[in-house]
Amino acid sequence: MAIERFTGENSLAFIRSEQLFDYARRNSLWYLAFGIACCAIEGLMSASGPRFDFDRMGVFFRNSPRQTDVMIVAGTVNHKMAQTVRRLYDQMPEPKWVVAMGACACTGGPFREYPNVVLGVDQIIPVDVYIPGCPPRPESVQYGFIQLQKKIAAQTEERLAARRANS
Ligand code: SF4
Repeated sequence: MAIERFTGENSLAFIRSEQLFDYARRNSLWYLAFGIACCAIEGLMSASGPRFDFDRMGVFFRNSPRQTDVMIVAGTVNHKMAQTVRRLYDQMPEPKWVVAMGACACTGGPFREYPNVVLGVDQIIPVDVYIPGCPPRPESVQYGFIQLQKKIAAQTEERLAARRANS
């Protein structure tokens, strides 16, 4: 087994179940297949294709919000679309994370002067990682996911440290 490479044969490794679940979670971040505009071509299609192959990082799309961990907001969010984005976010189970991909999702981007455009998806839902660019390269999206994995690991450590301090 892979664990033997770290611990040696006939060894035991102790880990909290919470750490194990978080480890599994951050290495299998399933995102909602939901693209709004041109960023979706880069973020959802190029990234999942054979060249960049996000699957090897455990990043894979699902078509139901009820089976996803991450929402990638890829595109310009207008006020009409905002209700749908919020509803899909609410349908995702906890714990869940949001990646704002591209200038439009981060700030409104090149369309921010139009009155029907939301000036950043963080006005509707909480955002964990912002990826700039118009559109961002798939490498940037990959880097964004690595940052998200680090954030999830840090949240686990913070939670465990807080519990140790209180015990
Ligand atoms: S950031 Fe650029 S590429 Fe992405 S949705 Fe907006 S206009 Fe399109």
